[in-house]
Amino acid sequence: MLRCCAAVFVFFFTIPFTFIAQLRAQTVSLTPAVVIAGAPELVSVRAPGAASVEGEWLGHKVEFFRRPSGTWDALAGVDVEAPVGPSTLHITVHGSAGSQELTENIEIHAAHYRTGALTVAPKFVSPGPEEMQEIEAEVKLKQRVFAHSASEPLWHGDFHAPVPARATDSFGTRRMFNGKLASIHKGTDFHAATGTLVRASNSGVVVLARKLYFEGNCIVIDHGLGLYTLSMHLSRIDVHEGEHVRTGQLLGLSGATGRVTGPHLHWAVRWEDAYLDPVKLLKMNLADVH
Ligand SMILES: [Zn+2]
Repeated sequence: MLRCCAAVFVFFFTIPFTFIAQLRAQTVSLTPAVVIAGAPELVSVRAPGAASVEGEWLGHKVEFFRRPSGTWDALAGVDVEAPVGPSTLHITVHGSAGSQELTENIEIHAAHYRTGALTVAPKFVSPGPEEMQEIEAEVKLKQRVFAHSASEPLWHGDFHAPVPARATDSFGTRRMFNGKLASIHKGTDFHAATGTLVRASNSGVVVLARKLYFEGNCIVIDHGLGLYTLSMHLSRIDVHEGEHVRTGQLLGLSGATGRVTGPHLHWAVRWEDAYLDPVKLLKMNLADVH
């Protein structure tokens, strides 16, 4: 009889404890906690026993990597043009005993970006048929470049500004070119005189280093798991495609090539096919993350 009671006791008290432990093990958090259109986000899932963790948010694949602490992290974000309002982050935690689905409802808040007007050479607003061919070929090239990112994070610690020059608050600005073409500015412009040293913001592999129509001399670095940084309008390229670069390594010199009004560095951050605010990435504390 006594043995029977003990068994009942164990049954009723172990089940709830296991359940609570599972819930605790899979808490999702986002940093920054207030999510703004165009912002990078560090997504963390506490799941020490998981074999892998994957997710989906606003049609983008979210790839997690394991920290030694047992937390799974993903450096993700919300595109500058993402719709404001509720969104759902779906996370699947795979363990030895099976998989568990987690859903996180995330409100996306509006960012207040400015509008501006610019004047550039007419060929950048109304390209001719030959130039259109060149532009279309480059669209396909960029699709190939962005189709495959490294399957592990290649970055380590914080991202650093590519030039010592001041960053403008130009990200997300709605722009009119020559009073005609409207587009959203998907990077940050740094005031950098021609010849300023442009450095790798973090470690990664150079997946594009060549002259393009709008971007001018352009370098794209793959930092892994869908995260890229892009440097445009350079006067000189000092790295080659396929080269592994370290944080702070010289990539080239700033300039005024491509669609520009004058010398500057256009620096962009892309995750999956979303463009994120580079200044916000530079402010993120990632030293303890990877
Ligand atoms: Zn720009």
